[in-house]
Amino acid sequence: MSRVASIVADVNGGVSPQTTAREVAQRLAADETERLNATLAWSPEWLGREAERVEAQSPGPLSGVPIAIKDNIVTTEQPTTCASRILDGYVSPFDATAVARLRNAGAMIAAKANLDEFAMGSSTEHSAYGRVHHPMDSERVPGGSSGGSAALVAADVVPVALGSETGGSVRQPASFCGVVGVKPTYGRVSRYGLVAFGSSLDCISIFGRTTDDAARVLSVLSGVDPLDATTVDCAPPDVPARPPTLRGLTIGLPEEYFPDDLDPGVRAANERAIRALRDLGAELRPVSLPHTRFAVPTYYVIAPAEAASNLARYDGARYGRRVPGEGGGLRALYRATRGAGFGPEVRRRILIGTYVLSAGYYDAYYTKAQRVRVLIAEDFQRAFASGVDYLFTPTTPTPAFKAGEKTQDPVAMYLADIFTCAVSLAGLPAMSLPTGRVEGLPVGGQLIAPAFEESGMLGVAMALEDAIDPTEEARP
Ligand code: GLN
Repeated sequence: MSRVASIVADVNGGVSPQTTAREVAQRLAADETERLNATLAWSPEWLGREAERVEAQSPGPLSGVPIAIKDNIVTTEQPTTCASRILDGYVSPFDATAVARLRNAGAMIAAKANLDEFAMGSSTEHSAYGRVHHPMDSERVPGGSSGGSAALVAADVVPVALGSETGGSVRQPASFCGVVGVKPTYGRVSRYGLVAFGSSLDCISIFGRTTDDAARVLSVLSGVDPLDATTVDCAPPDVPARPPTLRGLTIGLPEEYFPDDLDPGVRAANERAIRALRDLGAELRPVSLPHTRFAVPTYYVIAPAEAASNLARYDGARYGRRVPGEGGGLRALYRATRGAGFGPEVRRRILIGTYVLSAGYYDAYYTKAQRVRVLIAEDFQRAFASGVDYLFTPTTPTPAFKAGEKTQDPVAMYLADIFTCAVSLAGLPAMSLPTGRVEGLPVGGQLIAPAFEESGMLGVAMALEDAIDPTEEARP
């Protein structure tokens, strides 16, 4: 019997949805609201209605499983704010494809989770509704931008939650909070109903307490969607069986992800995980991804460029908040609405994005960044073509940092994604799983796979999960 059970299978198997709904409501009420600030909307009545719906429905793979949804994924029965004042009071007339699929599979939507405004950030301090607290140390951040979803799973409020990734926003908070975070291949899961940030990067992604749980949700979410032309028509990844050995697999260790100044605790926890991979029979091989150092600067040209275009739609005429502005007229409406609605980090992204797309600078920044993006993707292709099956790296350069530590220095905040955003630029699947603790704080390790090889990657994670105790202190 595996040490790491599936919580989702337990819920799905035995408990009545009404009982689960009541328990989740109690946990949300008691634990969550004041302490974590991880939700933006939930109610016992809403949970009760979800339970009724599930009870009336024929059983599915996620029957009665409560799931929290990052509040940049639209739902018809609760507001969707993206943690921004500009969407105050906005309720979507349709469900995101991911939400519709979860509901069809029997899941109950338990709460809308707090996030960095429009998913821009690495700490969930950029929410217009206040920061999310780390469940194990309230002075610290849970990571971001999907910090609310990560905290709810880590605090045992729900077994699984949806987040979104543009550059690492599920893997990074998963690592900080000591849970599993899975980012699928770009195009695997429909983006329809995920509020657009960087459309060529955005992926709905999953938090679970175990790999098995996240895999069950991924298989429900996956598949082509006529409403998202970037989805790919291929069979959903199955929930793999736990492989008894990793013999025959080669796992690459990219030297750029183990720099000399890596936090000693992060290094120690992940070196222990690497020893466990070897003990399971995997061959380990050093590899090089030489363009890694360009990933953060490339990401911070492409993502803001796409964000500036996508966010042009919030003009006071179509969505959410409307501030008429002095003297009337269209320009005054735009100015007043956007001025009142967007927080500082979102404004910074719009300014950067508009600048890199402007006539005189387009080639120097945007075109250049697109070229470097290809080089970054080719680094991964070359590594996988050389006989490496998966890559293993730390997920983040440090454990969870303190609130306020990086808010005055945007570049320091951006560097929190240094190990995650190259994968996003390449569109590859990757995941973070807990590998140890440093002074009580969780540390994560990252597995990276070739496109559409999620199933094998999840299998490696399951084997590793069984072989190490992620609550054990890693001693440098
Ligand atoms: N932290 C990165 C950013 O601020 C990534 C965000 C994300 O993945 N949504 O853009």
